[in-house]
Amino acid sequence: MSYPILTIVVPCYNEEEVLPETITVLIEELNELIEKTVVSEDSRILFVDDGSKDRTWSIVYKNSLENRNVHGLKLARNVGHQNALLAGLITACKTSDCVISIDADLQDDVCVIRDFVKKFKEGFDIVYGVRKKRDTDKLFKKATAIGFYKIMQKLGVNLIYNHADFRLMSKRAIQELEKFEEVNLFLRGIVPLIGFSSTSVHYDRKERFAGDTKYPLKKMLSFAFEGITSFSITPIRFVMLVGILSFITSLLFGTYFITLKFLGETQTGWTSLITSIWLIGGLQLIAIGLIGEYIGKVYKESKRRPRYSIDINTLNLTQQLIERNLETNGGDHRELL
Ligand code: UDP
Ligand code: MG
Repeated sequence: MSYPILTIVVPCYNEEEVLPETITVLIEELNELIEKTVVSEDSRILFVDDGSKDRTWSIVYKNSLENRNVHGLKLARNVGHQNALLAGLITACKTSDCVISIDADLQDDVCVIRDFVKKFKEGFDIVYGVRKKRDTDKLFKKATAIGFYKIMQKLGVNLIYNHADFRLMSKRAIQELEKFEEVNLFLRGIVPLIGFSSTSVHYDRKERFAGDTKYPLKKMLSFAFEGITSFSITPIRFVMLVGILSFITSLLFGTYFITLKFLGETQTGWTSLITSIWLIGGLQLIAIGLIGEYIGKVYKESKRRPRYSIDINTLNLTQQLIERNLETNGGDHRELL
């Protein structure tokens, strides 16, 4: 497989301002890769229109008629960046050896694409594009992003630091990704779960070429919340912990209040009231936490994530070798065993 078929998947939502430039830049890059026989001439760019309300689709469609390497996939409605990306990956994987995902706004460096393919040829199934610095980001975005990675790490979610959705995936990696049937999609968290050999390529992220970000603060927060709640049941455990702490405190306070009573310094009825408030509060939180544990289990089960992915299976390999040997050696395959 010296000339792999590459598909570049680009999710687009209301990107009419950047799209003509993006198409030009990507075609130029792809043509160069084809010319230098880095990738097969059947390689292409697939634009996924995520239910845009502007001229995005007509631009994509027009270009797909003019250029055989440009294709379009129009989704029936806006389903969000992650779902649009998944639609593109799954569609592209059927006819490609490897797929690269990149945003429509040219923030990611297209020159890195050749490094991605190089790593793929070296045998890596997943290549992550990692930004070197965050100079082009506003202070607020930088701070929230760093905070997000820190929190995710604390909650035990395995993320590649400073990697957005600019990455290469091999055909078989995407086929494994398809087995994750969860509806709440957070690709950055799922891709490292697939396993297979992976590596990173570093690049400088630029400013948005034109148009506005499609991730305003509200969407960004809900994206982060989605990420946390899709991957971690630590917040549920936290409720249980608070319950246990408050129960222990209630025991300590209870002893203290009862001592006070016997020393004769309290109002009638106060001791029993205050002790039971603390005790019941603590017990309730423990109970909620316990129910939460079961909900957490149901939540994990309901995701129906694959329990393993097979990298190499020598059972098949031996079979293939035996068959080949049968053909060439007339059946003598003892040397193989
Ligand atoms: N996008 C999408 N559907 C959406 C929102 C965004 O397909 O509902 C696409 C968008 O067109 C872009 C990519 O997702 O190609 C990333 O969006 P953006 O560049 O606005 O995010 P930022 O880089 O600001 O985080
Ligand atoms: Mg962007």
